[in-house]
Amino acid sequence: MYVGHIGIALGVKGWKRPIPLSALVIAAQGPDWIDTVASAFHIRSDHAAMWSHSLPSAFVVALVVGVMAFVGWRSFATASTFFATYLSHLPADYITGRKPLVPGAPLLGLGLYDRPRWDFAVELIVILVGWLLWRTSLLRERRNRPAAWMLLAGLIAIQAAADFALSIRNANVRIF
Ligand SMILES: [Zn+2]
Repeated sequence: MYVGHIGIALGVKGWKRPIPLSALVIAAQGPDWIDTVASAFHIRSDHAAMWSHSLPSAFVVALVVGVMAFVGWRSFATASTFFATYLSHLPADYITGRKPLVPGAPLLGLGLYDRPRWDFAVELIVILVGWLLWRTSLLRERRNRPAAWMLLAGLIAIQAAADFALSIRNANVRIF
């Protein structure tokens, strides 16, 4: 999942309003950040996926994130929210992509990236629901301000660009 992870963070923000949105976004994207760091160190992508997106590694990192949140906020509810937000990454990615559930196992997932229109439809729903929930956290008079709508438009545009890039990549894979 691409922008859908931000949609999930927005939805959590609508539900748990005192938690900063930026921290929720980082937690929701967590495994992808580990992937990014791993690729910066030239770690093979299948090894990086195992360290970032397998169930055991995600569970351990989610626990660490939860403990850090507890230290920072002194709230078990907030720590649990961060733990769950981090772990939300996995089911989302198993719907749109293919990841190793446990180290050494074959990749698993619906692989919607092979069908970018379907990926766009699924991520659009997640973005829309998340944005609507986030919008409830705004003061009533701010909910229709251009900035709120621009956020939604921006997220959809980034997702559309990502799926367009996927469709070009898929077409190239079929040609060559
Ligand atoms: Zn991911």
